[in-house]
Amino acid sequence: MYCLSCNSKNIKHYAFAKDIEYFSTEKIFEYYQCELCKTLSINQIPSNMLSVIYPKNYYSFLPQRAGFLLKVKIFLDGLLFKKISKNFKKNKLSALDVGGGAGWMLDVLKKSDSRFHETQIVDIDESAKKIAEAKGHSYFCGKFENFYSEKKYDLILMLNLIEHVENPSEILEKCYECLETNGLILIKTPNIDSLDAKIFRHKNWGGFHCPRHWVLFSMDSFKLLAERTGFEILMFKYTQGSPFWAWSVFALIQKAGLVHADAKRPSYTHPLIPFLTIIFAGFDFLRMPFTKTSQMFFVLKKK
Ligand SMILES: [Zn+2]
Repeated sequence: MYCLSCNSKNIKHYAFAKDIEYFSTEKIFEYYQCELCKTLSINQIPSNMLSVIYPKNYYSFLPQRAGFLLKVKIFLDGLLFKKISKNFKKNKLSALDVGGGAGWMLDVLKKSDSRFHETQIVDIDESAKKIAEAKGHSYFCGKFENFYSEKKYDLILMLNLIEHVENPSEILEKCYECLETNGLILIKTPNIDSLDAKIFRHKNWGGFHCPRHWVLFSMDSFKLLAERTGFEILMFKYTQGSPFWAWSVFALIQKAGLVHADAKRPSYTHPLIPFLTIIFAGFDFLRMPFTKTSQMFFVLKKK
């Protein structure tokens, strides 16, 4: 056992957790924390059961369901992309979305700035490939570690991806190779140094997304990794982490026997989830200027 971020063997037990969203396995997983860089890692990485822990109904494989929450999210993401694209002076831009599913985030990016003419997705889902290609994105079906390209990209998106990998250093080094000299990487990842992470640490915190999140950071522990792999942080902010609140609370309600969810009816399909998500989104938006919420957003550039 070693820290998946810095490889230190100086680690201690942090929490146990199980799959409270898709009920893909009964297995209980352990998370441990690195004493040096404070990153959390999962014990016994379930890399040999990917098709089990990412079932066919995994949310990012499916077309996004149109609804109020999605519209708000698309609007806010579009604003953010517009702001970040202002850093680029070129007329034609290229983007790579690692873990981009069917390409809906690249659709938002293209709409926010018409200079993005070349868009590439790397993901593991074969059915997302058809949808993505029909929308004009190139699609590599496989792991990012196995993606090879002569091309360098102006923008790399890794939104809620780095926490899903076994070797985050290798992933960032790969990004370094694929990125233009003045390119930027946008990274979104959960924050273990947040109120909900502390409250639900021993109650299946939604941010574990167990057993799909293998490595989890705080702002400081991620900064160490970024700097070690040749990047500096151009911009950083905490963003709302309402899904983690919603899943955590839903798991408690479910454990109390008040609602039912199982492998056929994963938690995200329950009507209570959008309700909880809206409540906690409001809560997080109110407190965001003053405190650390459970999602972090980084813009990295090469040192
Ligand atoms: Zn470490």
